[in-house]
Amino acid sequence: MDKNVEAAANLRLGVLKSRLENNGFNCIVLENAEEAKELIRNTIEDGSTVAMGGSQSVRELGIEEMLCSMNINFLDKNARSKSEEERNVLRRQAFMADYYLASCNALSMDGHLFNIDGRGNRVAAISFGPKKVYLFVGENKIVNNEEEAWTRIRNVAAIANNIRLNNDTPCRKAGVCVNCGSDVRICNQFSKIVKCFEKGRITVVLVKGSWGY
Ligand code: SF4
Repeated sequence: MDKNVEAAANLRLGVLKSRLENNGFNCIVLENAEEAKELIRNTIEDGSTVAMGGSQSVRELGIEEMLCSMNINFLDKNARSKSEEERNVLRRQAFMADYYLASCNALSMDGHLFNIDGRGNRVAAISFGPKKVYLFVGENKIVNNEEEAWTRIRNVAAIANNIRLNNDTPCRKAGVCVNCGSDVRICNQFSKIVKCFEKGRITVVLVKGSWGY
């Protein structure tokens, strides 16, 4: 990367970090996936109960795979062997977890967190329940303001997730959100977190580069 472009990107991350901290979030800036995995290895104590929101970012960083080999109680709702009923039990158990790992669909430069969820378990657990929440966010999810956040989520994140989940929603053909009435619509719960009520409960981990959708 050109060194001036890199300096501008670092400046932006620094400003965002300080605004997040002013809003009561912890914030850590990391260089790459290895540092993200090291953070989790060094943070999560043996025997902890850990849950994960459906997060492509956490998967791409290699953290989900690593959790499976750690000496923890991993509430792995994504395990292929699980029935939908068993997954729902794990989704509810996640509210009592020591750690909840997920991402954020968009992060605005004023230090606010934006998410859209289908079922609602992810936005609920980020807001309340698990003792500590770690959100891994790539630079691709940073936007300037709230309007850009919702636009990004509906026209980038939601469509990519519908493709991943093989949902037959109209945005997959239109290439943009048409605010559908589909039975498999994944844009049902809208969450904007402006401050971390219990200071430091949520840590935003900014990982340089592009991660997830
Ligand atoms: S068309 Fe429906 S599923 Fe697709 S992004 Fe819009 S509201 Fe979400």
